[in-house]
Amino acid sequence: MPSDALLLDLDGTLLDIAPRPEAVVVPTGLPAALEAVRARLEGALALVSGRPIGELDRLLAPLRTAAAGVHGAELRRRPDGPVERLGTPSLLDPLRRLLAATPLPEGVTVEDKEVAIALHWRRAAEPPAALIAELEARVAASDGSLEAIFGKAVLELRPAGLDKGRAVAALLAEPPFAGRRPIFVGDDRTDEDAFRAVERAGGLAFPVGPTPPGGRPAVFAGPGAVRAWLASVAAGGALLPMGVIVPMEEAGG
Ligand SMILES: [Mg+2]
Repeated sequence: MPSDALLLDLDGTLLDIAPRPEAVVVPTGLPAALEAVRARLEGALALVSGRPIGELDRLLAPLRTAAAGVHGAELRRRPDGPVERLGTPSLLDPLRRLLAATPLPEGVTVEDKEVAIALHWRRAAEPPAALIAELEARVAASDGSLEAIFGKAVLELRPAGLDKGRAVAALLAEPPFAGRRPIFVGDDRTDEDAFRAVERAGGLAFPVGPTPPGGRPAVFAGPGAVRAWLASVAAGGALLPMGVIVPMEEAGG
C-alpha cells in the first residue's frame, strides 16, 4: 500500500449527487477518513473534480490535498502549493455573453467557474435542447479552441485540450505520486480520460455505478460503497476492494 496512490473524483464518487451542485452534503467523518488514508499513502492522495479547487477546500475543510479542479483547468500539485490555472479562460467570453443574453428555462442554471462554464439541468423537466444546440454550434465554430463535454444533466464548456487525464498525468509526474501505482475512482464520462491516464501509468480504474463511464463494469455500486471502503482503508484495511481482479504482474505491487 505505501507504493500506491489514490486519485478521487468527488461528486457521484465520494458524495451523493444532489439536485444542485451547491446542495451536496459532506457526510460526517469523510474528511477525517480521507486524511487518514492520505497519511497511510504518505501523502499520495489527490482529488480530481469538475469543481474549482477552492470549493473542494471549502466542502472538505479542514482537509487540503493535492488537487485538480474544473476537469483539469486548475492544478495544485501539493496541498500547500499555488493553484495553477491552465488554458485561456477569455476564450469562453462569447459563450458567457450568449448565456447572459438568453432567458434560461425553469430549472436550468449556469455555473461560471472562470476557467470553464457549466450548464446544469438536473432540476429541469427536460434538457434545454435549443440552448444546448446553440452552444454546440458555437463550439463547433470555434476552430477547435473550445470543447463541450456532456456529463450527467450537465454540459461543460471549456478551452480545448484540458481534461482530467492531463491533470492526472501532471500529478503522477511528481512526488509523492511519481513511481507509485495510481488508482483512480470516478463515476462520470469526464472520468474516462483519468481512467486511461492511470492505466497508461500501470494503474487501476475503479468505476463507480450505477452507470459507470465508458461501459466499464462498476467496482463500487455508488458513493456509499466508496465511503465504506475508504473508512475501512482509514482503519487499516486493504486498499484493493473485494472482487477487484488485478493482473498477475501487478499483484502485490
Ligand atoms: Mg463525478
